[in-house]
Amino acid sequence: MSHVFPRHCHAQLPTAVGGEGVWLIDSEGRRYLDGSGGAAVSCLGHGDRQVTEAVKAQLDKLAFAHTGFLTSEPAEALADLLIAHAPGDLDRVYFVSGGSEATEAAIKLARQYWVEKGQPQRSRLIARRQSYHGNTIGALSAGGNEWRRQQFGPLLLDVSHIDPCYEYRDRQEGETPQEYGIRAAEALREEIERVGPETVMAFIAEPVVGATAGALAPAPGYYQRIREICDEYGILLILDEVMCGMGRTGSLFACEQDGVNPDILCIAKGLGAGYQPIGAMLCSAAVYDAIAQGSGFFQHGHTYIGHPVATAAGLAVVSAILDRDLLSRIRQKGEVLQTALEARFGQHPNVGDIRGRGLFRGIEIVADRDSKAPFDPDRKIAARLKKAAFAKGLICYPMSGTIDGQHGDHVLLAPPFIITDEEIAILVDCLDAAMQEVLGAAEATA
Ligand code: PLP
Repeated sequence: MSHVFPRHCHAQLPTAVGGEGVWLIDSEGRRYLDGSGGAAVSCLGHGDRQVTEAVKAQLDKLAFAHTGFLTSEPAEALADLLIAHAPGDLDRVYFVSGGSEATEAAIKLARQYWVEKGQPQRSRLIARRQSYHGNTIGALSAGGNEWRRQQFGPLLLDVSHIDPCYEYRDRQEGETPQEYGIRAAEALREEIERVGPETVMAFIAEPVVGATAGALAPAPGYYQRIREICDEYGILLILDEVMCGMGRTGSLFACEQDGVNPDILCIAKGLGAGYQPIGAMLCSAAVYDAIAQGSGFFQHGHTYIGHPVATAAGLAVVSAILDRDLLSRIRQKGEVLQTALEARFGQHPNVGDIRGRGLFRGIEIVADRDSKAPFDPDRKIAARLKKAAFAKGLICYPMSGTIDGQHGDHVLLAPPFIITDEEIAILVDCLDAAMQEVLGAAEATA
């Protein structure tokens, strides 16, 4: 009997014993195409020698030094590299062990910034519905996914949630994408005015939404208007690139493509590429200086922040992304994937939208293409797709979410950046077979 506490208590999981490129291998010798990189983690694939060698070398040199006393060479080098490529005036990097820790730190930093600036009445965070920022209490409070939040309601912070930018569902007839982008962004102004501008500390959003909406990119102009509104009211903009950052969408930082510079930015998943647990929060010089020139102490921290082995892995991963010119490969293979998905599922009666950027792609599953009506949640479409795809040797990331207050399903694809055209074809074939198995049956009884 296993003593591991699994996510699904009754699941009988195969045991992973190896990984090669885009493939994972279990103890029975079965191979799985890692079509979602776990959850947008394994961006370099499995068994990348450059990264494993860097991790081993760092372990041989220095495994741990507490950041209360010492910094370390890989942490300094990774911070320099990230800042050299970061958008806007991001200037400092705070290393943590994962995505939830990054967004949690961002929320606390935003709060402390206002306390240091002598405006302690600013404590309200504004976030969006249909979002996910992590599972710790602060991060979960920021998230707008009802299913994840429901049983923890009494523990959560009072966060405002506005509608996301969701062109496929919310753009009105006759409205251009730009007009819609501006209209969607104006929801932030309305909420700021509703709750009182002097009480708001920050707005948090994912540039390209991953887990809760399936690679949902913003409409043109959305983030520029968001930035203008934040500036107008003096509110901090936190961008959560835990999933969509580190090259996933075709630029090292996803927000580069929307011409927006955050005050605080969170990254994780692809930063360690699965070789080490690591995340980071980057902040502007202005935010850092408020603390440095104020109390001089960020009232936060975990034992493993700035871990030497984790930062050595991050350094090797980011160097690989840049030195191997993976960003142009991501853009190119992303187009191959999008084209293949459109060719296979473009006319599928249960596929409403195929979207995304780079190697971050999503398929929205609907019961009816014309009305865009989602499936009844009892059909558990996402869970069944996940199971069917896995049985056919494909790991992908189908999720259920809440769409305009209703249940909705989508499949998220985030394969390793090294995926080849042949492997993309296998991915699409396996997904097609899973869709036929699940949606054929579901449609018949819809
Ligand atoms: N933020 C976003 C956008 C995420 O997608 C996730 C995880 O999926 C998190 C935060 C939380 O990251 P972690 O699971 O590493 O704590």
